[in-house]
Amino acid sequence: MKKAAIILTILFVVLSCGGRKATTAKVPVTTTAPTATTVEFSADSAFRYIKKQTDFGPRVPNTEAHLKCSAWLASRLSVFGAQTYIQGFETETFDKSKLQCYNIIGSYNPDCPTRIILCSHWDSRPWADNDSDPANWKTPVDAANDGASGVGVILEIARQLQKKAPGIGVDCIFLDAEDWGPGPDFKGNHLDTYWGLGTQYWAKNPHKEGYRARYAILLDMVGGKGAQFAREKYSVMYGKQVVDKVWNAAASLGYSSLFKQSDGGYITDDHYFINTIARIPAIDIVPYLPQCPQSCFGPTWHTTQDNISNIDKNVLEAVGKTLLTVIYNEKQ
Ligand SMILES: [Zn+2]
Repeated sequence: MKKAAIILTILFVVLSCGGRKATTAKVPVTTTAPTATTVEFSADSAFRYIKKQTDFGPRVPNTEAHLKCSAWLASRLSVFGAQTYIQGFETETFDKSKLQCYNIIGSYNPDCPTRIILCSHWDSRPWADNDSDPANWKTPVDAANDGASGVGVILEIARQLQKKAPGIGVDCIFLDAEDWGPGPDFKGNHLDTYWGLGTQYWAKNPHKEGYRARYAILLDMVGGKGAQFAREKYSVMYGKQVVDKVWNAAASLGYSSLFKQSDGGYITDDHYFINTIARIPAIDIVPYLPQCPQSCFGPTWHTTQDNISNIDKNVLEAVGKTLLTVIYNEKQ
C-alpha cells in the first residue's frame, strides 16, 4: 500500500441462503449470537496457509512464484467448496511495465442476492524500499504479513464456511498487483492509482455482470506481531456501519486491545477503489501504529523482515474469529 504521507493520507452445496429473512415478530425472538467459543477458527491452519504462500517465494507478478501461487490459491478455494473464478488480465504499472495478473474469487452461496466480500491482496511488493539497509531496497518482499496474512485468514474462513454455511452469500476475493506502487528510483508525480491495480480492474470488470454486494471487508497486514487496528478514515467515511459492526464484534469477543476504538489515518489501499469505483461500502482492517519509528503499518512493512517469523497466530485468530462472528450474524 501507499506510504503514509503527511496526515497519513496517508459447496458445491448451494444452500438457498438459509431463508433467514427478517420478519416483524410479535413475540420476542431469542437469537444467540456466535461467540469466541462457538466460532471455530484454526490459527494453525491460517498460519500454514501463510507459510505455503511464502514458500513459493515472493509472489511478484510476472514471476514463476506468482503463477504457481495463483494456481494454489484457486485450488484451495475450490477444495473448500467455493465456486471459483480466476480473472486473468494484463495491467500497466507506473513505469509502463506490463504485468500479467490474476484476481482469484471464491463464492459461497453463489446465487444468493445478499452478498458480502472478504478480500486481501495476494501479490508481494517487488522492492523492500522501507528496509533500514538501502542495499535491500531492490529486494522483493516475502510479504508474509503484507499480502499472505490476509489471504491465510480468508482461506481458513473459507474452510470453516464449507463446514457451516453462512446465511448470506460470501465472496472471497484475492486481489492482485496491489503493491506495485512506485519503487525506490521513482522521481515523478505520485498517483494513488499506481496502487491497487488488481482492485481497479475488478471494480471496473466484476467477475459477474451487475455484481453487487452489501459491503466489503479488506484485510491487509493482519498477522504482524504487536498489531493494532484503528478505525481507518476512508472506512469510516464510506462504511461507518460496517466499521461499527466489525469493531463491536471484536469487542464482544474480548479483542478490544487489538481493535482500538480510535481514529486511524486515510490509507490508500484496495478498499479505496472498491468504494470509489465499484461503489460498494468497503472497510480496511489495517494496522495503525503511529508510535512505530519504521512505519505506522509496523516495523516490517516493505522490509526484508516481513517474513513468516514475524507472524503472530494470536492476531490471526482474533481477526478470523471476529470476521466469522460478523458473517454468521449477517441476515438477508
Ligand atoms: Zn504493501
